[in-house]
Amino acid sequence: MDVVRIDLHTHSTVSDGTDDPTELVAVAAAAGLGVVALTDHDTTAGWRPAAEALPPGMRLVPGAELSCVSDDGRGGRVSVHLLAYLFDPDAPAIVAEQRRLREQRRSRLRAIADRMAADGLPVDADEILGSLGPDAPAGRPHLAQALVRAGLCDTVDEAFASYLATGRGYSVPRRDTPVEHAIDMIAEAGGVTVLAHPFAFQRGPTVTAEVVETLARRGLTGVEVDHPNHDARTRDELRALAKDLGLVRTGSSDYHGTNKSIRIGQEVTPPEEFDALVAQATGTDVVVGG
Ligand code: AMP
Ligand code: FE
Ligand code: FE
Ligand code: ZN
Repeated sequence: MDVVRIDLHTHSTVSDGTDDPTELVAVAAAAGLGVVALTDHDTTAGWRPAAEALPPGMRLVPGAELSCVSDDGRGGRVSVHLLAYLFDPDAPAIVAEQRRLREQRRSRLRAIADRMAADGLPVDADEILGSLGPDAPAGRPHLAQALVRAGLCDTVDEAFASYLATGRGYSVPRRDTPVEHAIDMIAEAGGVTVLAHPFAFQRGPTVTAEVVETLARRGLTGVEVDHPNHDARTRDELRALAKDLGLVRTGSSDYHGTNKSIRIGQEVTPPEEFDALVAQATGTDVVVGG
């Protein structure tokens, strides 16, 4: 029998991807995946439609990518993303924190768009937010799409490299969740956590290995080793670190539909690592499909 192909990090239109949850499941099936996790930023709203669209034999791992902040191990603070899986989406602490993050994302998008508009760029915060639905986790990809629609750039990638690049004056910080709190909150809700693209330095400053060790002691379950933003050396380094610390190592595409050039299933998680991850979740009743 073929080895099951497992992709544990994808985004739908519920956050900043371009496939709706139903399409995403279909694309995952067409790519030959047996397991796919839906990990929209700061929301679980896609879980139900994705589960309803599952073809027979395919498994959905309900998840989310939480916007967090961490010590960087060099005396500063840095933004980190925490993948959370198999937790109770109705846990009051999680519901409240995700709502706070989504509200903050919307006011941040408005602040950036207003600054752009003040500089004469054809960007309208009301129009962008209005097109997203009242409770959507707004993000810079939505601004990037608006810049593409306005004809200022050809692609979302180009918008990130130009207007949205740090130092251009269009970055507004978020007040994200301290990563230790997020790890505790997800564990209390029966779930497991994986540090997303920990050493993806092209995306901005990263944490040191010592920070990963501290988080492992706190209860972190795994690290994302195989990610499109990690080069071969970084992967080797992370794989060794995961082994030392007893962390599960995942591999995932971080698929965003046409907002990025990455294909779903481009990176995968070894089945034995997936089993080790699921074994540490206590809220097993939230696993969908089978
Ligand atoms: P935000 O959540 O608003 O801070 O925006 C970050 C999001 O933008 C992340 O989900 C990334 O996947 C996406 N992103 C970052 N850099 C790029 C890029 N160069 N091209 C496309 N998407 C990007
Ligand atoms: Fe994203
Ligand atoms: Fe991320
Ligand atoms: Zn992601």
